[in-house]
Amino acid sequence: MIKKTAADLAALIASGEASAVEVAQAHLDRIAAVDGSVNAFLHVDEDIVLEQARAVDAKRAAGERLGPLAGVPIAHKDVFTTKDMPTTCSSAILDGWRPPYDATVTARLREAGLVILGKTNMDEFAMGSSTENSAYGPTHNPWDLTKIPGGSSGGSSAAVAAYEAPLATGTDTGGSIRQPAAVTGLVGMKPTYGGSSRYGLIAFASSLDTPGPLARTVLDAALLHEAFSGHDPMDSTSIDQPVPPVVEAARRADVEGLRIGVVKEFGGEGYQPGVLARFHEAVELLESLGAKVVEVSCPHFTYALPAYYLIAPSECSSNLARFDAMRYGLRVGDDGARSAEEVMALTRAEGFGPEVKRRIMLGTYALSSGYYDAYYGKAQQVRTLIGRDFDAAYTQVDVLVSPTTPTTAFPIGERADDPMAMYLADLCTIPSNLAGNAAISVPCGLADEDRMPVGLQIMAPVLADDRVYRVGAAVEKALEDRWGGPLLKEAPEL
Ligand code: GLN
Repeated sequence: MIKKTAADLAALIASGEASAVEVAQAHLDRIAAVDGSVNAFLHVDEDIVLEQARAVDAKRAAGERLGPLAGVPIAHKDVFTTKDMPTTCSSAILDGWRPPYDATVTARLREAGLVILGKTNMDEFAMGSSTENSAYGPTHNPWDLTKIPGGSSGGSSAAVAAYEAPLATGTDTGGSIRQPAAVTGLVGMKPTYGGSSRYGLIAFASSLDTPGPLARTVLDAALLHEAFSGHDPMDSTSIDQPVPPVVEAARRADVEGLRIGVVKEFGGEGYQPGVLARFHEAVELLESLGAKVVEVSCPHFTYALPAYYLIAPSECSSNLARFDAMRYGLRVGDDGARSAEEVMALTRAEGFGPEVKRRIMLGTYALSSGYYDAYYGKAQQVRTLIGRDFDAAYTQVDVLVSPTTPTTAFPIGERADDPMAMYLADLCTIPSNLAGNAAISVPCGLADEDRMPVGLQIMAPVLADDRVYRVGAAVEKALEDRWGGPLLKEAPEL
């Protein structure tokens, strides 16, 4: 049961061969068996899970029409508000907070009949690439428990890779869906910015934050994408356009006649040889499937990482000002004698972890008068140039491809004290965030050095989300024929 895809589970539930309660129970049992060593979940409440599943079974019994994912369990990143479960963003500052409302993504999961298993671990406020920056301990990669599961959506990726859930939500500000998907052998999609709602998503960098799906197959990711995306009047940057036909594209799964550009700037020094080997094989595969492959230069992509590390911290320094010890969660030193300012300072000093503090300081500096033009202003100019690189590339090709990450999953602890090394994990994913484009990561094999998963990134213009699903599904189909099944079957049993 737990190894079935979301599409298969939904079909079993719709036909009555399995009840939503049975499916939920199987996943709760799996969580109980393995999560002690994976630490994917921060919060699981069995009663609430089974209540949601019973509601789906009751609807079916009453002859109501069920959605395409009704009854399927899902792991939900703890960055989305949930009114029946705590929401911490893996920060001590939100310890004990119960949101009074559901995020739009949460509400749409419920409307679609998905059964929310619990909230997943993450890097604090989504800042990180390893899920080590959590106040609740690191999450472990199910392929090798000594390694990171990626981040910041590492609890979500680990839950799906460990068969604790067939689906998970994530958010991608600089790579936080695609990078964890790549290093755990999953499919992870960053929709077009504004294609999925930020309402009730605790903000990190508002001009970049994008909710998206994590799954074991391209079709499952597309089904989840369709279930929670689309226009939301509660989000001022939400796009008022129909969701691109992602499910249809995932079913189509061909590259016939498509022009594919290999980004010249992503490869070479600093990339793990095993990652590059699998990437080049994937490019050859695309060619053999009928795509026309050319090399494309995007000269400003080299500056994407430094620009991101000015823009994202600037926005975070403003967004995180709301954690003032008065409105949410933790309050330290409120003894009646201290001023509000003193309580605020004590609470923020104790409640935020070191990476969050680093970003707030970096962002405050970059935005301060006298430095604004030199740092934040320049970074915004670079952002424009990166958008133009994409525009120029898309006059020649339909999609761009690159490795998703320069290396496979690294050991827990290895980069924890080296922020620069940590930031490099997002080298290839950040340009799509800065431009707001669609991008997916699909598994393309195991690196020879360490037998750990490698991801292929496929990028497309704004609102061409269907195109990356189409190409991703074609790669998946061809590779699964070659491998005799999904890549995840190579992972050791937990
Ligand atoms: N790793 C990047 C960062 O730390 C991206 C995080 C994200 O996408 N949420 O900012």
